Amino acid sequence: MRTLQDFNFKNKKALIRVDFNVPLDEKFNVTDATRIEAAKPTIDKILADGGSVILMSHLGRPKGVEEKYSLKHILNTASEVLGVPVKFAEDCIGAVAKNAAENLKPGEVLLLENLRFYKEEEVGDVPFAKELASLGDVYVNDAFGTAHRAHASTTIIAQFFPNDKCFGTLLAKEIESLNRVLKNSEKPVTAVLGGSKVSSKITVIENILDKVDHMIIGGGMTFTFVKALGGTIGDSICEDDKQELALEILRLAKEKGVQIHIPVDVVAANAFSNDAQTQIVDVTKIPDGWQGLDAGPKSLENFKKVILESKTILWNGPLGVFEMPTFANGTIELGNYIAEATEKGAFSLVGGGDSVSAVKQFGLEDKMSYVSTGGGAMLEMLEGRVLPGIVAILE
Ligand code: AMP
Repeated sequence: MRTLQDFNFKNKKALIRVDFNVPLDEKFNVTDATRIEAAKPTIDKILADGGSVILMSHLGRPKGVEEKYSLKHILNTASEVLGVPVKFAEDCIGAVAKNAAENLKPGEVLLLENLRFYKEEEVGDVPFAKELASLGDVYVNDAFGTAHRAHASTTIIAQFFPNDKCFGTLLAKEIESLNRVLKNSEKPVTAVLGGSKVSSKITVIENILDKVDHMIIGGGMTFTFVKALGGTIGDSICEDDKQELALEILRLAKEKGVQIHIPVDVVAANAFSNDAQTQIVDVTKIPDGWQGLDAGPKSLENFKKVILESKTILWNGPLGVFEMPTFANGTIELGNYIAEATEKGAFSLVGGGDSVSAVKQFGLEDKMSYVSTGGGAMLEMLEGRVLPGIVAILE
């Protein structure tokens, strides 16, 4: 795997695809600079070598040129975070970009205007990618969040740098973390899969059954399994057409020697509301008019035991409707168990969408070994897919 460390950037212009798709408030202030901070190690290394940096990113989903999606809004924050005044090119290709790139001196950083002002970006247009490529000497991909897209700046561009391309620090870390869970993992390996639907997680489940010793299944998915096994689930969320699939997963798990852990009790509510009445019930005996919205205490006790014995833990998806405080306990507790296991030496990776927001919301981010920055990209990797942005660098 070619990384930044294999290059010396002295007097080189590094063209870096970053993910600066940051949230802005109505006055165009950056409300969360995490993604800019995440790219800093890569940028620092290049500047320290005596190189210069050209940053390319998208922001939002503009339809053509839309001023509200201009990357100029993030210039101040980027300059602050990176500790250098970031220059700006009001176009990502053409004479404006070319001049700005040509005039860039070692130690300087240039940010190009939103790539998605051109439809060619998402289409993966080759001439557009070639124009971008002409701006730099080395191509660095550090945008994990878009690595699953074959866009001009994430994938197509790499062909114009047959020998001068590499992963940035962030992207390399994402790949390494996932490999540490799915390839070179220390046993026992436990995957916790939560979230709402079996249908959205099925490919992940199937792919990782070969790689784990334990699988904890929680969240809304629980009830499709419980119903398929003959339980009564009241008004809980359920995908009736996935019951066969649930039984097939259980059969496969048995065949492969994977222990599946499903909640035995749940916090049931008489409405999908934070103010609903609640009671703890057996997961197989949920009364009509009630729905399971979080894991119950006995379930958490079981999960705790499994987690604390694990040496490698993957967590994707909340155990309950954590957005409502009444049903957040299971997700918070699970996070605490994983934090405790991590402190005792386990490797923990949190990735793929909602569990990442849960971990951040509950202040557990620093207690996990690694929290992934790319929701969709991480899910696709967990599904066993090869991401085009990664392949393009490896080729
Ligand atoms: P996903 O995007 O598939 O990871 O699902 C995340 C969503 O699942 C979150 O918004 C949770 O509120 C929701 N969720 C978790 N547990 C349940 C449940 N028991 N019933 C309904 N929704 C749930």
